Amino acid sequence: MPRCEHNILSVDLEDWFHILKDGYTRKDWDGLDTRVEANTDRMLALFEECSTHAIFFTVGWMAERQPELVRRVSRAGHELGSHSYWHELVRHHTRQSLAADLERGKKLLEDLTGAPVRGFRAPGGSITRETAWALDVITEAGFEFDASVSPGYSSYGGYDTPFPGPHRIRTNAGELVELPTSTLGVGRWRIPYAGGGYLRLFPYAVVAAGVRVENRRGRPAVVYVHPREIDPEQPRMPLPPLHRFRYYVGLRSTERKLRRLLRAHRFVTASEWIAAHRELWAANLFDAREHVATSAPAAATALAPPPPSEIA
Ligand SMILES: [Zn+2]
Repeated sequence: MPRCEHNILSVDLEDWFHILKDGYTRKDWDGLDTRVEANTDRMLALFEECSTHAIFFTVGWMAERQPELVRRVSRAGHELGSHSYWHELVRHHTRQSLAADLERGKKLLEDLTGAPVRGFRAPGGSITRETAWALDVITEAGFEFDASVSPGYSSYGGYDTPFPGPHRIRTNAGELVELPTSTLGVGRWRIPYAGGGYLRLFPYAVVAAGVRVENRRGRPAVVYVHPREIDPEQPRMPLPPLHRFRYYVGLRSTERKLRRLLRAHRFVTASEWIAAHRELWAANLFDAREHVATSAPAAATALAPPPPSEIA
């Protein structure tokens, strides 16, 4: 197995109130102060300082309200991916509502920048064996790769696929390249270490050791961060204690940790990694068609995206 020399840096581009449980709901969003622009600009400056490019999985609702920010990210040489329109867990969707949401989120970003949007990440990485049907919908929507699978433990996802690193997924609508969340451990006992609350919680040495292990095994670390994670001053939502800890632990040290990580290791965008490392993913094929056939959407609680005219 050849060593992997490059890792993937990803940002879930959303505001401080786009969380998946408790906190604020959609009807509150328009009334809240936005902090995503200032936080993302800080992140862009950090990436420039470290000569690094990332993929920004962007929430459509936010892109509609902050089009200039999205264009600025793209102009700085970063890749745009979709993080859905409504930032809703996959299990709350039907096939139809997910298809409408993905189509809207993707087209919006493509219209804003004129560049194709190839990649998708589900909110909460919420693709599991039970929601494997979504892999068909993602492929049908025209995405070429997905970054929604977390092998082993995950709060909203967790899908015990045979490959902890990048691989192909066969669906009924064609194939996707999957870029799973980086995890350490064995089998089901794998936990993420390179993103979100885990990245904020673990000491730098643990994260860096994880990256080295992945690279030795011919895998990239897939690091993910949110703009709010470098913003210690963000308002605190009234959350139950465990959630509160998860959302707010380590906010003061994350920017420093990220800078150290970006200086010590090489990171590229998702599309760059896929194009340059075919030998590390093309031979790994996971046929998901049986899981797709035996999974079914539950009753929909997700909203369809609004037509463009409804938004000022
Ligand atoms: Zn998100």
